[in-house]
Amino acid sequence: MNAPIEHSGKPRVAVHKFSSCDGCQLAFLNLGEDLLTLAGRVDLVHFAEAGPLDPVTDVDVAFVEGSVSTPEDLERIRHVRAHSRLLIAIGACATSGGIQGLRNGVFDAQWVTQIYSHPEAIASLERSTPIASHVKVDFELWGCPVSGPQMLAVVNSLLLGVAPRDNADKVCTECKRQGYPCVMVTRGIACMGPVTRAGCGALCPSLGRDCYGCYGPAENANTGALAAQFARQGLSPQAVVQRFQSINSQAPVFLAAADKIRIQNHD
Ligand code: SF4
Ligand code: SF4
Ligand code: SF4
Repeated sequence: MNAPIEHSGKPRVAVHKFSSCDGCQLAFLNLGEDLLTLAGRVDLVHFAEAGPLDPVTDVDVAFVEGSVSTPEDLERIRHVRAHSRLLIAIGACATSGGIQGLRNGVFDAQWVTQIYSHPEAIASLERSTPIASHVKVDFELWGCPVSGPQMLAVVNSLLLGVAPRDNADKVCTECKRQGYPCVMVTRGIACMGPVTRAGCGALCPSLGRDCYGCYGPAENANTGALAAQFARQGLSPQAVVQRFQSINSQAPVFLAAADKIRIQNHD
């Protein structure tokens, strides 16, 4: 990662949207008072959803939400990279191509003509890809959406001149620390927590439901063991594939897990 911010003036920060639903920007906005405090410490030059509009000025930190899904996205991400000292990709769309990545490998131009009354107005790339597939990314924050406090922690780390902490541990560790009953052990519900990156505080198990992997793959994720466990719980091979092919379907670890199951089942 480039050197953290170190200068006397207010650091310039931008928040850019690419192909996305805006949910990660909302996580930023939902910080409320903390965002107002932050706004006093930085110069927020571009954040269309919050008001400031200046996507071209050089900045110290650019937060990028969304995947690269259109030719325009591709051109714009290069511009953003060239004009940002640090680039932080936020959310599943930006880190793994997002839910729109489900079209990768099965995109058919015919769909566009069948779905849209003016197909000539649609300019989509065949694949939805993460930001890091196109430009250097200094730090990635996973999640769909990312959590506001996580984003705040990254900004605070950069303002303090230290590298942000990357927590690639598993959701299970957060779940255990909080003392939530394990839905897989106690209720036989298939849960992606053992292979999913921590950061959400085990939100879904705290509500008695399974993790569906929205924070993407954890470090050293044993997807083979979890797939075998899901099969023992009665999930069909197709259902197990679907567990890995969801919001972070294009994350290489989840993609490989799904491919392996397909090959094993001659699908
Ligand atoms: S990661 Fe999820 S919440 Fe964030 S922009 Fe993409 S779809 Fe929306
Ligand atoms: S509920 Fe899910 S995240 Fe929690 S311990 Fe069990 S498997 Fe892990
Ligand atoms: S428990 Fe899993 S699905 Fe739920 S918010 Fe956390 S990472 Fe996402």
